[in-house]
Amino acid sequence: MQKPLFKKILVANRGEIAVRVMKTIQEMGILAVALASDADLSAEHTRTADELIHLPGEKPADTYLQADLILEQAKALGVDAVHPGYGFLSENAAFAQSCAQAGIVFIGPEPGVIRDMGDKIIAKNLMQQAGVPVVPGWSGDLQTEFSIIQKEAAAIGYPLLVKAAAGGGGKGMRLVKEAEGLEAAFAAAAREAQSAFGDARVFLEKYITRPRHIEFQIFGDHEGNVVHLFERECSIQRRHQKIIEETPSPALNNDLRQRMGQAAVKAAKAMGYTNAGTVEFILAEDGAFYFLEVNTRLQVEHPVTEMTVHQDLVRLQIMVAAGLPLPFTQADLKQDGHAIECRIYAEDPARNFMPGIGKLAVYRPPQGPFIRLDGGVREGSEVTVHYDPMLAKLIVWGKNREAALQKMSWALSRFALLGVANNLAFLKAIIDHPQFQSGDIHTHFLEENPILTEETETPIEALLLGALSASTLSASTRNQSGTHSQTGSTANVVIKPSPWSLKGGWRQLTCQK
Ligand code: ADP
Repeated sequence: MQKPLFKKILVANRGEIAVRVMKTIQEMGILAVALASDADLSAEHTRTADELIHLPGEKPADTYLQADLILEQAKALGVDAVHPGYGFLSENAAFAQSCAQAGIVFIGPEPGVIRDMGDKIIAKNLMQQAGVPVVPGWSGDLQTEFSIIQKEAAAIGYPLLVKAAAGGGGKGMRLVKEAEGLEAAFAAAAREAQSAFGDARVFLEKYITRPRHIEFQIFGDHEGNVVHLFERECSIQRRHQKIIEETPSPALNNDLRQRMGQAAVKAAKAMGYTNAGTVEFILAEDGAFYFLEVNTRLQVEHPVTEMTVHQDLVRLQIMVAAGLPLPFTQADLKQDGHAIECRIYAEDPARNFMPGIGKLAVYRPPQGPFIRLDGGVREGSEVTVHYDPMLAKLIVWGKNREAALQKMSWALSRFALLGVANNLAFLKAIIDHPQFQSGDIHTHFLEENPILTEETETPIEALLLGALSASTLSASTRNQSGTHSQTGSTANVVIKPSPWSLKGGWRQLTCQK
């Protein structure tokens, strides 16, 4: 057996991504070290790890974002590399720099690349210079006279977007439909950007109507090899955040795929990119595509790429970080079949996606051929307000899109999850929707189909809830000496008209047993 590339890798993250990254680390004969806040001491990622760093507190700012404390503890444990996952410290250039200074390998690109790509204005300028198409727009400093900004906006044309240079998660973004709205939107976006990122710089960008969000997985090694691992279609979004991703994109033919792939590689080379990254594009209805941004980390939706190119992206990240070359060339890479990912969130689509909290009373993911579940919870786990409400990702593979859709619809209908509001039925309604099935989607698909957010349930939830209602009803009947009262707390749960509230009420119900 070969000597492991590292001795101990710290996964500076939590939840499903920490679990997923640790599996590959351990498979490679390397010890996995976890971080755990007070709330996560018995979490799934903590149980998966070989060693643990306890970070007292619960809030991210007190725990998973404590870069100096984490690094100090990592050094004490003899950690020789850090995998940052996504979110938290993954795009923090100062943290990557501190790791290097401490003699610990940061599994990601160089700190300077992270810094530059975190600034949408710098990134866009660099791409423009490299000949990668960018969305027409204007950027200048905040002191620019407003009459000049107005002229620039008129030249771009309305509608347009005001975006924050340091933006992320849709923050500091404003849609301006007409010239009258520009001044207020500009000021509001700058204020929001200042408070969210401590950086008020904003820029203007033409608003592309009914676009698709298409991104390319890129990879570079330290010998100058750069490849792309094809696209991911991420147009199904709520509040500018992705919930369903798939590859190949139904919108790309081979010619467009090749041109976008080449643009992604050109972008990566212009940055001197190493390790895994994602180049995001927006694809207009007329087939024109534009650079949007680069994410300098592993992406949430990376499994659909893994399922179709048959590569473990985390293994590749670790190999490249250890100084090994990429084990393939562009010509070796082929897309095989079709993969779809659904993000399972503890949130209520019928109540404006309000996050759900509580105990996962029932949690039985579906199993079957070509079904993968990347999860960070188990039955009995407590879902709290402190962290991202994503519980797991359900990923399926089929030999073509039709087969993958059929499998996803079945898998969602067999996912038993009770105790916390969730979006399973919502995801199934999208997957089964004729427009989604036809592949004719864009980033406003959900807004244009509000019916999808109506209260509903999956077949297995219906079965479970039916069984639950019947047993609870007979119990309540016994408790109330044959009278079905609305005042008893058990009866209250039974007569709630909505299955969603019953789902939320399961926790109360089990407590009473
Ligand atoms: P953030 O980094 O805040 O997530 P992005 O620039 O990645 O912001 O954009 C997030 C989403 O907003 C995109 O996926 C797309 O749906 C929408 N969007 C961004 N720029 C444009 C644009 N110029 N025209 C239309 N939609 C856009």
